[in-house]
Amino acid sequence: MPNGKPELIRTSAHFIFSERYRNHSYGSQHPLSIPRVSLTYDLIQAYAGFQSGEVLDSKMASDKELLWFHTPEYIAAMKNVEATGKVQADYREKHNVGNYENPYFPGFFSTPATATGGSIQAAESLLNGHVAFSPAGGMHHAMPDRANGFCFFNDPVLAITRLCHEGLKVLYVDIDAHHGDGVEFAFRENPAVTTFSIHMGSDYAYPFKGGQLSDVGSLGNAINLPLPKGTADSEYNWAFEHVWEKILSCVEFDAVVLQAGTDILKPDPLGKFSISTQQFLKIVQRIKNSVPKKNNVPQLVVLGGGGYHPLSLARCWLGVWGVLTNQVFPAPLPDEAKNLLQAVDWDMDEDEPWFDNLFISRLDQEYLSEVGESVIDSVESLIEHHPLFR
Ligand SMILES: [Zn+2]
Repeated sequence: MPNGKPELIRTSAHFIFSERYRNHSYGSQHPLSIPRVSLTYDLIQAYAGFQSGEVLDSKMASDKELLWFHTPEYIAAMKNVEATGKVQADYREKHNVGNYENPYFPGFFSTPATATGGSIQAAESLLNGHVAFSPAGGMHHAMPDRANGFCFFNDPVLAITRLCHEGLKVLYVDIDAHHGDGVEFAFRENPAVTTFSIHMGSDYAYPFKGGQLSDVGSLGNAINLPLPKGTADSEYNWAFEHVWEKILSCVEFDAVVLQAGTDILKPDPLGKFSISTQQFLKIVQRIKNSVPKKNNVPQLVVLGGGGYHPLSLARCWLGVWGVLTNQVFPAPLPDEAKNLLQAVDWDMDEDEPWFDNLFISRLDQEYLSEVGESVIDSVESLIEHHPLFR
């Protein structure tokens, strides 16, 4: 204990990465045509936040693995688009690809298949005694035969499936701003998996259907908590804590797969919540502290997800890596980190009050608000009526 400070014991952890993410995907006009995973990786490097052996090179998912959820026709179509550089007309209709939402880009099959392989690898890291972070994953909207909401392959489904193959009961937690519809759909008939999604209501946000309080699934293994526009730190924390306590006392699970999309953060251009980085990290820490442990390692896989503001996303996922490994990164950004963020071609919100701070600190000001009646009503109704909580 030098200087009287307790030494934190580093949690054994893996960060799944591929250099291929440096070539931005999705073309140039898409909300995802921004640096995300590579910027996160570089920011962690700027904090000297990796130890040797912690970064794993992502493998590509095999056809066999993709077939755990996706149809052979869809996989063949994705490969055909990459090989020919063209999206056939009938694919647009059948598979919802080659449009603005899910556009063609070089590496059309290989890049999503690598992100997916990385999330399966993260599940295997858990099985081998590590917590794991697959920031390129979290593509929770993809369906068996269709791309959906910028998502081509549903890596959360495949990572969970990998854990289920070992007989684990899995709790999927989705804190992305959008409802985790594809994952809920995948496990609607699988009692070994419970899904919990906390998101912007479908009355005002994508996917514009499902994800309601009353959507509990035919087995009752889906928990949905939609929250109103503008939900801020204090309300979000209140709502999460109440439901989380209930989940811990009523749901049996061996491992958690967390989808950690950052579009709930205040500066996000697509999200409509006002959550600070430190509130986000408080939730991740809370989950890490309360999941089952094996040989003292939390049984936790964290995936990426949405997040359309590169600077706030990278700062946040830096913090996620800190939580997972037990490292405390100083709030003031080191010079190398400042330079890195300043080099990103991004000025969409330069007139906003938070902008300057993005280059000064990895944390934000807090966004406080009283817990509104509608949030209290939603949480109380969920706790009172959900079949899992009876
Ligand atoms: Zn999202």
